[in-house]
Amino acid sequence: MADAPPLVSLTDVRKTYRKGDTEIHAVDGVSLGIKAGESLAIVGRSGSGKSTLMSLIGCIDVPTSGHVSFGNRRVESMSDRERSRLRNQSIGFVFQSFHLIPELTVERNVETPLLYSDTPESAWSERVHKALDAVGLEARKTHFPSELSGGEAQRVAIARALVCDPEMVLADEPTGNLDSITEREIADLLFSLPRSGRALVLITHDMSLALRANRRIELRDG
Ligand code: ADP
Ligand code: MG
Repeated sequence: MADAPPLVSLTDVRKTYRKGDTEIHAVDGVSLGIKAGESLAIVGRSGSGKSTLMSLIGCIDVPTSGHVSFGNRRVESMSDRERSRLRNQSIGFVFQSFHLIPELTVERNVETPLLYSDTPESAWSERVHKALDAVGLEARKTHFPSELSGGEAQRVAIARALVCDPEMVLADEPTGNLDSITEREIADLLFSLPRSGRALVLITHDMSLALRANRRIELRDG
């Protein structure tokens, strides 16, 4: 695994936002590579550019300058549609506030990424079952998000992130809304992903969480 090529690589990546006359260099010359089976923690104060960097690693956004590659593909030369497809197939996202759809049951929430994928509909229920099983929530599949604890809601979000069998999972402050015991359960679940060959990128304020990753980068003003 050590000499495998990176799954994602960023080369001198910058992201600049313009507000009137002022430019904000949210990400300012970052280079990094992430391989399958690796975990990377991104730490830094609020406003230091962590979420912007995550949107570049996750191919949600493209850099103002520099290069991002996913596999052997140049992300900045892909269309929006191609990037959406790449995200759907290869990247799972987990957020601090879960982002579940309140009107949908747990199983329907987990199923949503499959609706936009090439997976045949006949295989959806098996995929959903497998993803819910991986987070230990099969028994809650007919519940609605309002009936779940924070930790359960985050486990559903992780199942949704896994349902298309991604090569990489990105988590932005995934334990920010959880108590410390639940935080630990969610962290254990996330850090089990690299063991199955996935890359994990975790944004966190919490140094004890960051210390569990193979590598850490600290952002200061981008
Ligand atoms: P963090 O996640 O570390 O708190 P962000 O990446 O959200 O930091 O933001 C980094 C900087 O970029 C901040 O100064 C923020 O105000 C600015 N920023 C982020 N997104 C935008 C945007 N869409 N438009 C303008 N400025 C932005
Ligand atoms: Mg942020």
